[in-house]
Amino acid sequence: MLSPLKIILLAVVVGAVFIIARQFRKKDESGEISANKQEKTTDQTTELQKCPDCGTYVAAIEDHVCEK
Ligand SMILES: [Zn+2]
Repeated sequence: MLSPLKIILLAVVVGAVFIIARQFRKKDESGEISANKQEKTTDQTTELQKCPDCGTYVAAIEDHVCEK
């Protein structure tokens, strides 16, 4: 028999799973977008861009993260 406490616990678990699943989906979407962007930039131009901050030459300046 289901007690009110078990129902509350179940609701909390379902809510947590829903939130975690949504965050994973967001990460997947942003990863796909940046991957597509990188492909397009490499297709359009093979020229390397110089990073204004660290001076490193990179294929896609928007995907570059400066090393510190
Ligand atoms: Zn840089």
